[in-house]
Amino acid sequence: DNLLEVKNLNKEYGRGTSKVKALQDISLTVPKGQFVSIMGPSGSGKTTFLQLVGGLDSPSSGEIIFNGVNLQYLNKEPEISVFRRKHIGFVFQFFNLIPSLTAQDNIALPLVIEGTSKTYINERVKFMLEIVGLKNQVLKYPHQMSGGQQQRVAIARALVRKPFILLADEPTGNLDTKTTLEIMELLKTTQKELEQTIILVTHNPIVSSYADRVIYFKDGRIIEDELLSNNKSKR
Ligand code: ADP
Ligand code: ADP
Repeated sequence: DNLLEVKNLNKEYGRGTSKVKALQDISLTVPKGQFVSIMGPSGSGKTTFLQLVGGLDSPSSGEIIFNGVNLQYLNKEPEISVFRRKHIGFVFQFFNLIPSLTAQDNIALPLVIEGTSKTYINERVKFMLEIVGLKNQVLKYPHQMSGGQQQRVAIARALVRKPFILLADEPTGNLDTKTTLEIMELLKTTQKELEQTIILVTHNPIVSSYADRVIYFKDGRIIEDELLSNNKSKR
């Protein structure tokens, strides 16, 4: 049962002599609940791939299909933004929290914007705080929290609307080793407990080892697609 289907995806930036082929004929499927890591050298197209799958940019050609919904048919505003806010969760290297909001208000924000009922928001935010282990940081502001705690808030915020997929671009790139492992344990927990499908981009092989599958990009192409049978990733 595929959550995501990507068919013959191409992305070019620029034109004429300055044309860059960032992605070349990428095809893959991701079953629901899978945790995928994407690795590859700088400039190999990883971020571009994540941006296209997340509907932040549109492909030059090819198709991206979530649960049977082709993003191509949403490729105008406001449909694509509505789809993105509802079904895609993003996490980045720098946590991108709102400095003037507490942990719980940062997490609640996507639901508040959506106009969800207060009762549901309170219930859902409490649940997310528990999942990410921040029950005691509810009223802290971002500057009062460590990097790891801020990333926990960002993960909770990304998941509060139960997205189809969580897209994470170097989510541990700004964290020390110990905190990196804690955040990876947390992502693993969300995969298991929420059946969360995840695609993560990383340069770090230790981070990658938490995934079920590692896809290697080079020069905009997939050069290897490996299932990890070991370890941490077993359910
Ligand atoms: P990675 O995430 O693997 O480092 P990127 O997806 O950022 O790779 O970039 C892939 C290629 O596309 C690189 O050659 C990069 O310079 C180019 N590129 C990425 N974004 C743009 C853009 N907005 N405009 C022009 N070129 C871009
Ligand atoms: P990464 O950490 O994945 O290597 P980059 O530094 O390549 O990220 O890219 C960061 C952002 O800048 C991305 O949104 C990407 O699309 C954009 N970008 C990358 N290369 C270029 C470029 N040559 N021209 C314009 N934008 C670019």
